[in-house]
Amino acid sequence: MGLLNDKNALVFGLANDKSIAWGISQALHREGARLGFSYAGEALEKRVRPLAAKLGVDFVEPCDVAHDDQIEAVAKKAAAHFGQVDILVHSIGFANRDELNGYFYNTSRAGFHLAMDISVYSFVALARAFQPLMRKGGALLTLTYYGSTKVTPNYNMMGVAKAALEAATRYLAADFGPQGIRVNAISAGPIRTLAAMGVSGFRDLYKAFGDIAPLRENVTIEDCGNAAVYLCSELSAHVTGEVHFVDSGYNIMGVPEPAARE
Ligand code: NAD
Repeated sequence: MGLLNDKNALVFGLANDKSIAWGISQALHREGARLGFSYAGEALEKRVRPLAAKLGVDFVEPCDVAHDDQIEAVAKKAAAHFGQVDILVHSIGFANRDELNGYFYNTSRAGFHLAMDISVYSFVALARAFQPLMRKGGALLTLTYYGSTKVTPNYNMMGVAKAALEAATRYLAADFGPQGIRVNAISAGPIRTLAAMGVSGFRDLYKAFGDIAPLRENVTIEDCGNAAVYLCSELSAHVTGEVHFVDSGYNIMGVPEPAARE
């Protein structure tokens, strides 16, 4: 018996087999969920379709979350295909490379708007579009990062966007709670993905992480998948509006252990 038998789960944000969305999809599939994928646009289709085939997923639809009509269209198709939806995973983030480098005060107005639109508003827009389809007992899940509350060099605009995303998670949790639907975020440690590589200095940050984190190990997309199973299943039945760290304990450290600093 899987923990998610008979559950319908839609995953937004699959780009390739390095994506956190892929780790989450594999874990949801393992636990018996019926999956659907949505990807950003044509360029990614050739990467996403073979991954969908591996898990026997036949709902694979494009949706650029910058466009309300595309969000509405995918919700309509999901309604026709699945009827109701139990789980919605938002694993989407974007900022221009220019905003992920150097001084935060150099963030442009357009870059600020774009990062907030794609990385934050899209979660709100998806929640609204799928609200009529969500079944009682369901869960919405998003992905965030520690740079929301602590300054992380070069993360800049994405840190501000993640702070807003975490606040949005709490507001959505309050909205959806009376419907019996939970809304949570996973705050993942650094993982080598397409999106992460856009952050200047990511390689150094990734390397230092494993030395500083109490568990002395980097995290994987499989770790995120297992946490997603918890947050989207009955196991976390009364957990909502939370930011759940999957980071080998990195966030609890104030000052690195002396050995880690050598
Ligand atoms: P990824 O590049 O594999 O995934 C990012 C996804 O966002 C891609 O699938 C991309 O197509 C999608 N996306 C971007 N613009 C879009 C648009 N307009 N419409 C629809 N989709 C769009 O990288 P990832 O690291 O798996 O990122 C997933 C989430 O995890 C992001 O929110 C990211 O900020 C977050 N996160 C990543 C890390 C990390 O170190 N990799 C750590 C913590 C949180």
